[in-house]
Amino acid sequence: MATSKNQYALAGDIGGTNIRAALVDSEGRITGRGSIDTLPERGIDDASERLARLLKAARATAPSGAVIAGVGVSTAGPIRPATGTYNHPPNLPGWNGKTMKPSLSESMGVPVWVGHDATLAALAETRFGDHVGAENLIYVTISTGVGGGIIANSEMVTGASGGAGEVGHLPIRTGAYGCNVGCDGCFEGNASGPAIARIARDMFTGKGPLAELCGGDPANITSRMVFDAADSGDPVAQQVVDLTIDNVSIGLAALINVFNPEALVIGGGVVQGLQRHWEKLQKTVVEKALPGYGDTTPLTATRLGDDVSLLGAAQLAFREARRI
Ligand SMILES: [Zn+2]
Repeated sequence: MATSKNQYALAGDIGGTNIRAALVDSEGRITGRGSIDTLPERGIDDASERLARLLKAARATAPSGAVIAGVGVSTAGPIRPATGTYNHPPNLPGWNGKTMKPSLSESMGVPVWVGHDATLAALAETRFGDHVGAENLIYVTISTGVGGGIIANSEMVTGASGGAGEVGHLPIRTGAYGCNVGCDGCFEGNASGPAIARIARDMFTGKGPLAELCGGDPANITSRMVFDAADSGDPVAQQVVDLTIDNVSIGLAALINVFNPEALVIGGGVVQGLQRHWEKLQKTVVEKALPGYGDTTPLTATRLGDDVSLLGAAQLAFREARRI
């Protein structure tokens, strides 16, 4: 491996709410962290300047003799990774058709590489997670939405215009619930946090642990309450959890069948609930996958936590710097 002890990457992470930056060493140790509000309405140039300030502050914490490979930026998308150009990003209004890559590169004086956050999360798992060296790995985040990143044959799968990996819109249960985009029965519409809450609201009886947790008002139901109520013996909440496990398994099995990954890693807020049913989830994925596929694919919950995007951005910089 070309990376050495004194090699570092500067990592940025742009979300709809926050921009974060840090210095990351070749072992994935993070220092010099900073965070600011994204304020996308101020425009991409303003955000680029403020991110550069954070990155410079992070760089100032590097020890003497440190070699900076470059800047990796993980961002909410959709985005064309080669140019960093946004393509109608729902959480960064006003940034469509724009990129901060040239201005950031000029400001920092080092190369800048940009990637989609879910794809870079998958990349982080192949370097700093439980599956180091994996050449085929899929990362699925199940949270407010459902997204994914795919590493196939050691490459990031980005697609023709950077939009690959939208696993949240895989059809998994036609005729059931749709998502905000309007597709029929997709993964996101049936297994995201809000989807789990919506299914529970539609099945709400007004009795039992779930009714107590939501104070009698089904409008208050969250996916966390559904998992907690099932743990307290609520039969309807248990039905929703069982359906969720089924829905998640159908989506994961489809990915396993198509990509034959060495590992599948799940992140996002819904994982905390799913982790309490991990054996059942694994068993259901095996049942739904082709014979001989699911039982050879480890299914793990990410242990990189909120740092997964920063680590993915850093790994992008380490990896691309070796290619120039
Ligand atoms: Zn959808």
